[in-house]
Amino acid sequence: MNDPALHIIRVISAAPLAAEKAEAIAGRIAEQLAIEHFQVRTELDPSLIGGLMVFAGGFRYDYSIRGQLNRIAGRLKAHRSILPDDTMAQPELSRLIHNNLDDALSGFSECPLAPEADDILLSGSLPEDADIQPSSRRMVDRLQETLSSFTTESTVDEIGQIVSYSDGVAIVRGLQNCRSNELIMFSSTVYGIAMNLEEDKVGVVLLQQDDSINAGMYCKRTGTTVHVPGGKALLGRVVDPLGSPIDGLGPVLTEQRWPIEYPAASIVDRQPVNQSLHTGITAIDALTPIGRGQRELIIGDRQTGKTALAIDTIINQRGQNVYCIYVAIGQKMSTVASVVNTLQAKGAMDYTTVVLASASATASMQYIAPYAGCAMAESLMYQEKADVLVIYDDLTKHAQAYRAISLLLRRPPGREAFPGDIFYLHARLLERSARLCERMGGGSMTALPIVETQSGDISAYIPTNVISITDGQIYLESELFFSGQRPAINVGLSVSRVGGAAQLPAMKKVAGPLRIKLAQYRSLASFSQFSSELDEDTRRQIKTGERLMEVLKQPQYMPLSVADQVIMLYLANRGVLVDLDIEDIRPFLLDYLRLLHGRGTAFLDEIAAGGQLSEKAVAEIDTGVAEYLPRWMAEHEEYGTTD
Ligand code: ATP
Ligand code: MG
Repeated sequence: MNDPALHIIRVISAAPLAAEKAEAIAGRIAEQLAIEHFQVRTELDPSLIGGLMVFAGGFRYDYSIRGQLNRIAGRLKAHRSILPDDTMAQPELSRLIHNNLDDALSGFSECPLAPEADDILLSGSLPEDADIQPSSRRMVDRLQETLSSFTTESTVDEIGQIVSYSDGVAIVRGLQNCRSNELIMFSSTVYGIAMNLEEDKVGVVLLQQDDSINAGMYCKRTGTTVHVPGGKALLGRVVDPLGSPIDGLGPVLTEQRWPIEYPAASIVDRQPVNQSLHTGITAIDALTPIGRGQRELIIGDRQTGKTALAIDTIINQRGQNVYCIYVAIGQKMSTVASVVNTLQAKGAMDYTTVVLASASATASMQYIAPYAGCAMAESLMYQEKADVLVIYDDLTKHAQAYRAISLLLRRPPGREAFPGDIFYLHARLLERSARLCERMGGGSMTALPIVETQSGDISAYIPTNVISITDGQIYLESELFFSGQRPAINVGLSVSRVGGAAQLPAMKKVAGPLRIKLAQYRSLASFSQFSSELDEDTRRQIKTGERLMEVLKQPQYMPLSVADQVIMLYLANRGVLVDLDIEDIRPFLLDYLRLLHGRGTAFLDEIAAGGQLSEKAVAEIDTGVAEYLPRWMAEHEEYGTTD
């Protein structure tokens, strides 16, 4: 049996080192670490170039030239965003410099030493014949000098050794002072997050896939959690959850960093939601209005237009001083590429960042993606005092990624095999959305999480969790989608618990009767097939309802301004459209709005500025329609017959 109290201190040098010198060095380190019983093992590793490295008590003391070069390279990499001003003005030049710097530095990768077959980190036996090499006087003097002059702590790393590694999860021994969620470095390109802290080992989930990771390798603590770049430099970019660009447009030039896990704003730092965030989709802005700082869930089966709603909302934020962050979790690359192309084509990338952890990314990347997006939004909200909209598409895949990680870490599975803290996972993410008070700058973060259901089952585990965390939900239905009612919003099941307070007065006025009429229509709709046997009043209610549903239809990428929405809904409520055929309703309304815009009517601006729908405006609309409708119908009929 090995003596558990006996520590092995490995002294690795670039050139042969005398045994007594190695003893002296080990002795000093043992003193620092309060190690009483130890044995020294000397090793030779010319790849250190010069100097030495000592492994003792779970720490690595690096006094080697290779270590120094690595640190210099690391520092250069970290600070490369600070370039002279004139290169900033020339993006091409700056990109060239960055790329060359990357090439030049790629040779320096922090590669932890290859382990010995019988290497034991903290205690254990010595190999029988520890071969002691002769040394040169000068070398030792220099080493001693290095050692005695060594004061900075940056070269002392707390290290651990991989006991087992599979499916992206490494069980590491050592790392005794490791903290929860700390970033662990395996090599210069491979990092992991410490998720399970046990008495004598740590479960680390690797962020990158790397075939070179295997049992016996060393890793080290970084003393920090995951941070992502923040600020406006990210706008217009597509980045991975660590903030590294994946759009081929060069590095993100910013010094701002923000931790991916950050406490939610406290209650005194907040104010009630009081400003609306218009989605441009009539059904949402009228019936489930969203306020800045609100969390509104978009929920529905697959292929029901969930992403389409989110993208339309982003497109509608043009010129509204709202920055957008779209987080794509576990989606196909091709889907996300088409989203990015659409945003670009609509000029929405100017104020948008896309965070992508695709289906092929590791589960850990998918797990941190929403937190990374949230951190980027937070940096804009707190530091730039801006209004931000963040979309998590979707949290079902996020929960599944976390479930995969948890099962690999052997945490006990609960309902639907999800771990017990799955609710906390989403609650701590969505609680970070806020409307900050003026003292804090008055910024806001509005969140639109998306959840996918299985055949409309909103009582499954993840949907019920997220419904209870958010301030309302927009429920999309396959049946409506396929019957042509798009966006396929189920008006009865969709609610917004706080947005009403932020709704513009004119919209509030027209939306009130709309809700009642739609409810009446729903209760009567099933009778519509017996229309000939119904009394005149009921028939009219059904007819109005059908026309209201028609007004709520909207094609993709065609967000409407609030004023336009108000006028459309006003006309629908008035029953003006009853004489029109269903399929004529949208063309007529669009033509009429075009006419109003052409006349430069003042009340359109008034409504948008938060004014009421004044009596004068109402009269103007009424007389306008009374005159225009017959003309339009006549023209249309004529066109129809000659066609
Ligand atoms: P998934 O579950 O695959 O993520 P999804 O619910 O996000 O799907 P989308 O990808 O947004 O659904 O939309 C599905 C399809 O429906 C797309 O082809 C989209 O073009 C179409 N679509 C969505 N909204 C509308 C709309 N308002 N009008 C017409 N077509 C629409
Ligand atoms: Mg989608």
